Amino acid sequence: MDDLLSRHRRVMPAWMPVYYDEPIELVTGKGSRVTDSNGKIYLDFFGGVLTNSLGYDLPEVREAIERQLRTGIMHTSTLYLIRAQVELAEKIARLSGIPDARVFFTNSGTEANEAALQVATNNRGGNSILAVRNSYHGRTAATIAVTGNRAWSASALSPFNVSYLHSGDRLRGLFKGMSDERYLEAAEEDLREVLATTTAGPVACLIAEPIQGVGGFTHGPDGLLAVWKRVLDEHGILLVSDEVQTGWGRTGAHFWGYQAHGVTPDLLTFAKGVGNGMALAGVVGRAGVLESVQGISFSTFGGNPLATAAGNAVLDYILEHDLQENAARTGAIILDGLRALSSPIVAEVRGRGLMIGVELTSAAATTAVFESCKRDGLLIGKGGLYGTTLRMGPPLNLTEAEAREGLEILTSALHEHGTVSG
Ligand code: PLP
Repeated sequence: MDDLLSRHRRVMPAWMPVYYDEPIELVTGKGSRVTDSNGKIYLDFFGGVLTNSLGYDLPEVREAIERQLRTGIMHTSTLYLIRAQVELAEKIARLSGIPDARVFFTNSGTEANEAALQVATNNRGGNSILAVRNSYHGRTAATIAVTGNRAWSASALSPFNVSYLHSGDRLRGLFKGMSDERYLEAAEEDLREVLATTTAGPVACLIAEPIQGVGGFTHGPDGLLAVWKRVLDEHGILLVSDEVQTGWGRTGAHFWGYQAHGVTPDLLTFAKGVGNGMALAGVVGRAGVLESVQGISFSTFGGNPLATAAGNAVLDYILEHDLQENAARTGAIILDGLRALSSPIVAEVRGRGLMIGVELTSAAATTAVFESCKRDGLLIGKGGLYGTTLRMGPPLNLTEAEAREGLEILTSALHEHGTVSG
């Protein structure tokens, strides 16, 4: 392992993060469990950053990929018709809730957001964009420009004039300690003030995550997107919902994160969970909006036969097994268990369904708990603007027994480090 780590460090850029003091190589997986190169087995509560939405080696997904592989065709270029692509687009268009929807497939969430920003700026004829503080939308020049987290803004060149709205949980910042009602009022005031004071020319869109993923699973009250959209509509500004982490039933209560807000966005972007590990992503929008890009836009690999074969199998499985409901049920076991804990190092437990964040009182405690979980056989994520959040996004087909098992490991790690302070 040491050998692979030192080879990794010699050949990969230093700014590319690897988890853990002693990073691990995962070599096999089955269900919600993975095995590392030393033969140690872990319960995976992070799923490759919410990407292995159905865990590992699910026969229905593996067989769909194998069937496509056996045709000999992994790629044909999207210049030819691709049956699996059309079928998946039909399903996503129907599920999106967006009327007369069109779907454009890409290979990553970054590209999906890039396409959404391209569509919005073309649609509105201006390069002013609204984004949210503490957001993460990708790693290209355009998506970094709308990413409101300095740690991830590796390149400062921006093609846009970006203005940031306040965001956040209620532990700090503008919304600290506010009731839902007051939060929504303050968010509206903030948006109106930003529009009046910091934007120039036509504003193309507001891009926002219904629950901020990289930002530490923080979110505002239900209805926040509706408050924003009401103001945006007064100005003809589009709302882009970045559903890269919140889509596919992840939040339990709803299929898409935006649905908690009683409003439909103009564009939505998706990635991660839809391919269960295959590179598959895209943007959805009303024909009149998505088609406002003038000229031809094309993706060599976007929506390729292999990825869309997997995407169809994943989506069918989620719907047939009502995994949205399973996410709500198993997520509640973890959330309720964590909320019932009394630990001096837990500042807040938040999230929905199987998108669960635990904010600790210091980055040191967060790292200590994170490492202990690994030692005891549980993989979770960490992050947030201040490095103080433990993040969990287990497979959507997690069993109740696995939910309890993971909760137990995390609980004992929190108790073990209950006295660690900043
Ligand atoms: N948007 C959100 C909300 C994300 O969490 C991510 C990745 O973590 C992205 C966009 C970028 O997706 P990708 O890494 O597939 O380019």
